[in-house]
Amino acid sequence: MIPMKTPIVEIDGDEMTRILWALIKDKLIKPFVDLKTEYYDLGLKNRDATEDRVTSESAYAIKRLGVGVKCATITSNKARKAEYGLKHLYPSPNATIRAILDGTVFRKPIAVSRVKPSVSTWKNPIVIGRHAYGDVYKSAELLVPGPGKVELVYTLGDESETRILVADMKGPGVVQGMHNTDESIRNFARSCFIYAIDEKIPVWFAAKDTISKIYDGRFKELFNEVYETEFKTACEAVGIHYFYTLIDDAVARVVKGEGGFLWACKNYDGDVMSDMIASASGSLAMMTSVLVSPSGAIEYEAAHGTVQRHYYKYLKGEKTSANPVALIFAWTGALAKRGELDGTPELTAFAKKLEHAVLQTIEEGGMTGDLARLASPAPAQTLTSWEFMDAIAKRLA
Ligand code: NAP
Ligand code: MG
Repeated sequence: MIPMKTPIVEIDGDEMTRILWALIKDKLIKPFVDLKTEYYDLGLKNRDATEDRVTSESAYAIKRLGVGVKCATITSNKARKAEYGLKHLYPSPNATIRAILDGTVFRKPIAVSRVKPSVSTWKNPIVIGRHAYGDVYKSAELLVPGPGKVELVYTLGDESETRILVADMKGPGVVQGMHNTDESIRNFARSCFIYAIDEKIPVWFAAKDTISKIYDGRFKELFNEVYETEFKTACEAVGIHYFYTLIDDAVARVVKGEGGFLWACKNYDGDVMSDMIASASGSLAMMTSVLVSPSGAIEYEAAHGTVQRHYYKYLKGEKTSANPVALIFAWTGALAKRGELDGTPELTAFAKKLEHAVLQTIEEGGMTGDLARLASPAPAQTLTSWEFMDAIAKRLA
């Protein structure tokens, strides 16, 4: 039995992923590790019972203990309110947790050789880090009805005012005002460097500062400042570098390159590019998601949702074939990090062995339905989630 020092914050969730969650612990972790967690039940029923307090409590626990692992959770809407008889609608748990940790989300595909990315030159995963504050997602928009002046006005108390002309409109049109803050940009850069040093991969950041000299220029300037003053030495120590380029040049390089870096993206670029990278890399069930706070606290999860359709089949008694890989990697990420922070290398080594057992199982043809459809060569048979995890457990033992 491998011992643990500090507990991991364990955040349970909903539907099929909640079923897989318990299986992962029972079949793949508890037989080998004396698992210590601080447990928070973010299943929709318990969020409702606690008026959603459990969600913020779990985020503060991650702040306190430094490492968390989260199952997928339902974001409530009208249909879910009726289905679960909820008292209220609640914000997305991920948004609540992200706001408390002030973190950035990194999405990383899990590569297996039997599933080839659509871009044939990619040899290593491309990780997307998306700035999750401001720009067009927090903008003010106006439908301009006809001719007139549009101006940007900055007021400081009653004393001073700065005004610049946006457009002298000759007819109807549209206008948009957006913003970001130095603090948020700096924290974004910090999270990116913390993640990249941890993963030992270079950081690319791209914007359009040739056109947007002040706005995107500020992003470039602050990113560079954070690198030079806070992270350069640490990056050099693990042999990684920071690279800035224009966003169009970055896109061209990404498609022609070999991958293997962190692509830090502004909010909109990250929204668009993460879907491109995710679908070009294969399956949603093979994508992990890591929330890194600028303070260094980290939460690991799968990028996919609760796999609702499979859950309804499961409730009817079917042995479904939902893919647990991203959830397993969320656990291994958290265990490895915990081992690193606690100075318990056996725990980190166990996490790596479990990842290896998962990948070997797939390489040798043991896989769930979603991967079997993409794999080349295709496997002789498709495994249920249960059979797949038993095969991993056997290899691990
Ligand atoms: P989803 O659960 O990610 O599922 C979308 C589809 O992708 C599934 O129907 C399934 O396709 C496939 N898929 C995803 N993960 C899979 C896996 N592990 N194994 C096999 N197939 C997988 O997204 P959704 O259906 O849009 O959302 C369901 C619920 O999840 C919603 O209530 C939403 O609020 C929540 N959600 C939570 C998170 C989170 O907590 N991070 C993220 C996204 C969504 P097939 O059905 O074709 O097999
Ligand atoms: Mg999107």
